[in-house]
Amino acid sequence: MMKRAHENLGKVVEVGSAVRKVKVGQYVVLPFNIACGFCKQCERGLTNYCLTMQPEPSAAGAAYGFADMGPYQGGQAEYLRVPYGDFNALRLGEDAEERQLDYVMLADIFPTGYHATEMAGVKPGDQTVVFGAGPVGLMGELEAQGKVPIGFGKLWFKGRRIGTGQAPVKRYNRMLRDLIAGGKAEPSWVVSHELGLDEAPSGYQHFDRRDEGWTKVVLHPDGSR
Ligand SMILES: [Zn+2]
Repeated sequence: MMKRAHENLGKVVEVGSAVRKVKVGQYVVLPFNIACGFCKQCERGLTNYCLTMQPEPSAAGAAYGFADMGPYQGGQAEYLRVPYGDFNALRLGEDAEERQLDYVMLADIFPTGYHATEMAGVKPGDQTVVFGAGPVGLMGELEAQGKVPIGFGKLWFKGRRIGTGQAPVKRYNRMLRDLIAGGKAEPSWVVSHELGLDEAPSGYQHFDRRDEGWTKVVLHPDGSR
């Protein structure tokens, strides 16, 4: 059975023989995109569409524990295998354990919200509207300020553009990590609950029902919270 969870942070307990940079004992955060670093798409910075880790042409992108995104296990487990560790793992500093709720947001929603503002060409001082205020939308709101809503029928008339797609997390995660480390961003504000692995089913139920106050759940497989 495939374990879920594509947003992962953890402490390295073992490395493969080809891994040079990442060391046992370091904390790392993993882009949800699993990428090789040497294919045509990766070389263009499109790690979200890596051709090595997702060779199936009708699909797009690979991820941990995600339907139709390759055979990779997710992080709702005591241990997680990371392919191409040096390329996929972003190392964290000495404050990693203490500030893991901030850093774990680098796996997906913080860079994904940022990517949305990049695609929209949002500049400081712009007005924006964020549709879909789930965890990612809330992150986008943090990073953007304004954009006027417009009917789809008028898109062509007004020359509007629409951007879609998975975020290439590696394009942003190092810069956003340094914003966190420098005290300029605290994306953990979106976290509403921290649960152990055995409490995950009830967390999903609350989230599915859109229960008030359940904005983002962080699971601690090691039971540390
Ligand atoms: Zn690749």
